[in-house]
Amino acid sequence: MSELNVVSLSEAQLPAEPFRARHLINGEWQASADGATFERVSPSHGKVVTIAGKGGPRDVDAAVFAARKAFDKGGWSRTSGKERATLLLKIADLIDRERERIAFHETLESGKPISQAMAEIEGASDLWRFAASLARTMHGDSHNSLGSDMLGVVLKEPIGVVSMITPWNFPFLIVSQKLPFALAAGCTAVIKPSEMTPATTVILGELCMEAGVPAGVVNIVLGYGDPVGTAMTTDKRVDMVTFTGSTGVGKAIVSAASGTLKKVSLELGGKNPQVVFPDADLESAIDAIVFGVYFNAGECCNSGSRIIVHEDVAEDVIARTVDLSRQVPFGDPLDPSTKVGAIITADHQGKIEGYVRDAEQSGADIRLGGEALDVPGLSGQFYQPTVIANVQSNMAIAREEVFGPVLSVLTFKTLDEAIELVNDADYGLSAGVWSDNVHTCLEFARRARAGTVWTNTWMDGFPELPFGGMKESGQGRELGKYGLEEFLEVKTVTMRIGRTRAPWVS
Ligand code: NAD
Repeated sequence: MSELNVVSLSEAQLPAEPFRARHLINGEWQASADGATFERVSPSHGKVVTIAGKGGPRDVDAAVFAARKAFDKGGWSRTSGKERATLLLKIADLIDRERERIAFHETLESGKPISQAMAEIEGASDLWRFAASLARTMHGDSHNSLGSDMLGVVLKEPIGVVSMITPWNFPFLIVSQKLPFALAAGCTAVIKPSEMTPATTVILGELCMEAGVPAGVVNIVLGYGDPVGTAMTTDKRVDMVTFTGSTGVGKAIVSAASGTLKKVSLELGGKNPQVVFPDADLESAIDAIVFGVYFNAGECCNSGSRIIVHEDVAEDVIARTVDLSRQVPFGDPLDPSTKVGAIITADHQGKIEGYVRDAEQSGADIRLGGEALDVPGLSGQFYQPTVIANVQSNMAIAREEVFGPVLSVLTFKTLDEAIELVNDADYGLSAGVWSDNVHTCLEFARRARAGTVWTNTWMDGFPELPFGGMKESGQGRELGKYGLEEFLEVKTVTMRIGRTRAPWVS
């Protein structure tokens, strides 16, 4: 499609050898107990870029054993907040030092643009610094009004051994939303990155070791959801599972974890609406719509894939969105000018295609794209920027995560109708409103069932602000002070002062 902005093969070189990724167990880099490995093929270049250990139950068993022992011995869990903060700050500095290397492997495995990967790694080191600051704020509370002879103290303690299971779309950023907060709390961890993107979690493990994290505190087992993720979820010695991924797998984890009643926190999918009122700054709104849907090729839990536009401005907004979409540089993720890279796998590209064809057959109107994108010189899979109008709320494309660069446009007449459309969803991750009227924005913010609401902006995030979903978008929160709280257990200590206790048997 010549009228799109396509970036062909860049001059950047792929590495001569694939990245070799091994498990990190009790401070040692190890091959799988059975010697098995798997390969990751770059979604943009079609070449093997990583060869990783393919973990099994024996590897998980060893990693959980190490994490349990490290926690129970107290060499990490009972250190001071100051000591933990110092180490987290050191890791943040090492992440900054290795930023280019981490970003490069992130791009090779995920297909995301290198400029975006660089920004994500910078954001990740900031998360480590923020978590370091929280390590020194951990405290419970005291009750001094229970009577003259009683004192109550509420302690916050690390929850224990935490299994962390992460997805492929923001591998380094998401592990950095979990691990530093768990470490700040004093927990130990067993981490499983997605089988699509193991390399950068392994690099993070190297940096943890270099910084001096004690053996067994951070363990990494590479491999597939089954058997690695399932074993990490059912093991009795694990106290908590924190999972980011699809809602379907999140539900499977809840039921697998129920056997041992461990705590589960979940960051899941979204079908996130942006509502555009006629009084909005439309130029800004349209730019945010284009950013919201094409960022990370739409493979983003926060993808603004569902636009709900007032019918008075709908045609104007759609036409301008189509025009702006044509200007977005899609193509080789290693080219610094690229804003949208490859689709994670050929299977996933097929799924995107299926949603678009289904929408077409259901009567929606494809105004742009709707097909695979050919990028000269590259053999991976890419999808055209796609805008679909005349979408109805009951269509699959309006209700399910497409996880591709595909925008659905619905229309509304009144605020009540807009809110009804927003909340007519199984998901509740994020929502946005565009209006110059503060009352419209506030009413929207209070009535939208979503963990995050943006007004006159989209996808701005800060370590200080909690993030998470309502309904089938998850349970629990990451980031902010809540990001630390998730990894803490509450203990009540009730103390009698002096020998004033009346005997029960008199
Ligand atoms: P996924 O659910 O397929 O996989 C996520 C992780 O779970 C991977 O490491 C995978 O190996 C593992 N896994 C698979 N089956 C498992 C099982 N039975 N038990 C334990 N672990 C198992 O998700 P994905 O395709 O990697 O990522 C995309 C999804 O993640 C999307 O739905 C997206 O919305 C969601 N996501 C959510 C957030 C958020 O913060 N809410 C952020 C990023 C991605």
